[in-house]
Amino acid sequence: MRMSRRVAANAPTPTPERLAEFRAELGRTAPGTALDELTVQNGQLIAALDEVRSQRDELAVLNEELAETNRGVLALYNQLTEELEETNRGVVALYAELDEKSAQLRAASESKSRFLANVSHELRAPVTAIIGLGRLLTDSASDPLTDEQGRQIDLIRSSAADLLGLVNELLDLAKAESGRIEPDLTDVDLRPVFGQLRGTLRALATRPEVELVVEEPSAPALLRTDEVLLGQVLRNLLHNGLKFTERGEVRLRACRHGDRWHFEVTDTGPGIAPELHDRIFEEFYQVPGATRVGGTGLGLPYARRLVTLLGGTLELASEPGRGSTFTVSLPIAGA
Ligand code: ADP
Repeated sequence: MRMSRRVAANAPTPTPERLAEFRAELGRTAPGTALDELTVQNGQLIAALDEVRSQRDELAVLNEELAETNRGVLALYNQLTEELEETNRGVVALYAELDEKSAQLRAASESKSRFLANVSHELRAPVTAIIGLGRLLTDSASDPLTDEQGRQIDLIRSSAADLLGLVNELLDLAKAESGRIEPDLTDVDLRPVFGQLRGTLRALATRPEVELVVEEPSAPALLRTDEVLLGQVLRNLLHNGLKFTERGEVRLRACRHGDRWHFEVTDTGPGIAPELHDRIFEEFYQVPGATRVGGTGLGLPYARRLVTLLGGTLELASEPGRGSTFTVSLPIAGA
């Protein structure tokens, strides 16, 4: 019998001795019968079948585990969906409650403004009458009064004047809050407005140690706004500066920043602690322990209302001992 086998090109050529060994080995292997062969193949087939069966079982186990995991994921998904729906229902209910609360707040604020407006309006007439009567009593044409009576009438008149100031401020604030102030927007030249402020506030700058400086705005200083309301706001801020500053200066300057005008009222007064920066814009709030110089605590809330009506903002930068800067920022094109 001739047997052949391909070998790699670089394999060493078998020596005649090696070939003789191969021959001897082949001669020793006795071929099995067809039955033996079949038995061996059967054994291999059974082993292969066993392998397939065990793989199928493993697959079934894996499938079962997968199905279990799927059921878990589905249950988790359902639970999460339910929780989400529950939370959503809560949020919707919360929104409804918030809406209701803000409607109540609006209603309360409107009644407060109406109450303030009515009360202050009703108070104005009798207080004005008291001031008028006081003036009459001290008039030279009336019966002469003793010195003490004259002093007391003066006290009554000055208290009534304070009360009238408070009533007027309350009325202004109530009007601004109820939206009854309609800004009358016109093209305003800032230079005459500043000139007028310089003139009217000079009378209030009574301390010789405090200088009032109203800087001339650089031309062209035009702005679309309500001149009267702007004047009121700046007068209020400058008046506060003059009230609270004992030495140094109170300065007003205007400068353009893009499409806005910034009005800065700076003073070298006592300054205001950062934690009170919001509070001083609340009605009736006055910094405790500050030098008592009169006032009602209504000026700043009113000023901020007006600035908001004009489409702007009123901000404060201040620290105790470093003075204060109130900045009104208004859009050039108007509200
Ligand atoms: P009023 O001046 O009538 O008291 P405002 O609402 O104008 O009321 O001001 C509230 C408070 O803020 C003042 O009482 C004062 O304590 C503080 N305040 C306002 N402006 C200044 C300022 N320029 N410097 C220091 N404190 C100020």
